[in-house]
Amino acid sequence: MRIDLHSHTNLSDGTQSPTELVHAAEKAGLDVLAITDHDTFAGWDEAARAAHEIGLTLVRGVEISTILHGHGVHLLAYLPDPGHDGIRAGLEAVLRARNNRLPKILARLAEVGVRISAADVARIAGETVALGRPHVADAMVAAGVVSHRGEAFGRYLGPGGKAFVPRTAADLWEMVALVEQAGGVSVLAHPWGRGAEQVLDEATFVRLKEHGLTGVEVDHQDHTSRERAELRAIAADLDLVVTGSSDHHGAGKIGHELGCNTTDPGQYARLIAAAESAARRAGRATPAVLG
Ligand code: AMP
Ligand code: FE
Ligand code: FE
Ligand code: ZN
Repeated sequence: MRIDLHSHTNLSDGTQSPTELVHAAEKAGLDVLAITDHDTFAGWDEAARAAHEIGLTLVRGVEISTILHGHGVHLLAYLPDPGHDGIRAGLEAVLRARNNRLPKILARLAEVGVRISAADVARIAGETVALGRPHVADAMVAAGVVSHRGEAFGRYLGPGGKAFVPRTAADLWEMVALVEQAGGVSVLAHPWGRGAEQVLDEATFVRLKEHGLTGVEVDHQDHTSRERAELRAIAADLDLVVTGSSDHHGAGKIGHELGCNTTDPGQYARLIAAAESAARRAGRATPAVLG
């Protein structure tokens, strides 16, 4: 059984529609796919219909933008009840902050001579609900300022870049608690990728586990084999579920093909069982795992 628990559609910063993503997952030989757009459930229904039609198992998830000590930390939440008021309000606040950040980024770019308008970004962003720096990056590629997203992040949009604007996002601890209240389970996404290792040390993992964290994404392209081994050992010590995933973004991210990392079926079973018991404890409905 091939299981990939982290992927994006064009409702956040991927390039495929939910239907296209599900079909691509089947083509890639996956049996189980989780859809985990940034900060929105907007792709769930379409993905579920497509998955149901072809008999692929779909896990409904979301990758929530949170902050810990000023650093961005991505939190994967699986199977929360999308009707839970707290989590809905939390995600809406994050989406508002995304929209408010955009004019600031464009102003910083203008200061360094890069003229990208909000309309340029809107054209690129298309149907997206979760507007973000990747859309600005794509607009910069379209304008010929850079040749790919990675260059836009490296020179302009990422930490240390000429137009970096720190974001406001949800507090990590609050989000872990909210996911649990919504009857879902949370897994730290790529914890040692892109600078978050500075704030996610072993002691913090211990506290997060006590606070309700269920798992850690260990096998991810942003982790070296040494980091993976260390993270796997920490997860084993703390009895955290270990996941492995592609973090696929369609054509939006190079080197993240569907199934390039996968999750062990035993770990997947633990994750789903944890979600079922979280839903029971919270008195919420777990979204069906099958499309
Ligand atoms: P934002 O959501 O606006 O904070 O932008 C963060 C998103 O940008 C991440 O979820 C990644 O999908 C993408 N990203 C971050 N760094 C890079 C990079 N160096 N190259 C391509 N995409 C990136
Ligand atoms: Fe992304
Ligand atoms: Fe992420
Ligand atoms: Zn992701």
